Amino acid sequence: MTTHLHEFPVMEHFHTIQGEGHHAGKAAYFIRIAGCDVGCPWCDVKESWDDQYPKASVQTMIEWVKESGAKNVVITGGEPSLYDLSELTQQFRTAGFNLWLETSGAYELTGEWDWVVLSPKRRKQPHPSNWNKVDEFKVVVVRPPDLEWASNLAENLPDSAAWYLQPEWSREEEVLPRIINFVKENPDWSISLQTHKYMRIP
Ligand code: SF4
Repeated sequence: MTTHLHEFPVMEHFHTIQGEGHHAGKAAYFIRIAGCDVGCPWCDVKESWDDQYPKASVQTMIEWVKESGAKNVVITGGEPSLYDLSELTQQFRTAGFNLWLETSGAYELTGEWDWVVLSPKRRKQPHPSNWNKVDEFKVVVVRPPDLEWASNLAENLPDSAAWYLQPEWSREEEVLPRIINFVKENPDWSISLQTHKYMRIP
């Protein structure tokens, strides 16, 4: 059950380059909605777990994006699927932006999106109703057994989805060689790297 709000707690928002996955290299305005109850031990935005941040209306968010000149908007978290995002997506799409979602899919997804990135988490696996909404399936690989876990989950995806494996940043040296071999043997998968970290941008 998702929470319906007219204003959302926003931890941070910024205009940058999408570093990961299918849209890597494109400029985008990121809005990080606070609140997450998934609890991944390796999470690199633990400050986003608490939802006690100033709230912003969707119209305020649209003003931020308009001022930046961005065309693409990434709604991320935290875990945005905690909230009912129908109204948010309706207003952003009416305003003419490309609207992309980054989620673990832990709760039932709401709203109409131009691109849905589902990054599954072992602590709270995706809600079964979300599989057919996925455009991009991006699995963060922390340990080698995550590769088999990713393969099993991918059986739920629609044919149109793009599949990515991304090494967890602090374990890249250990897991990247395994991912490279895996992708050579399983060519439905591609590798995603966190290129924004190499570029030293948020
Ligand atoms: Fe962090 Fe995302 Fe996991 Fe939440 S779902 S703990 S924000 S990595």
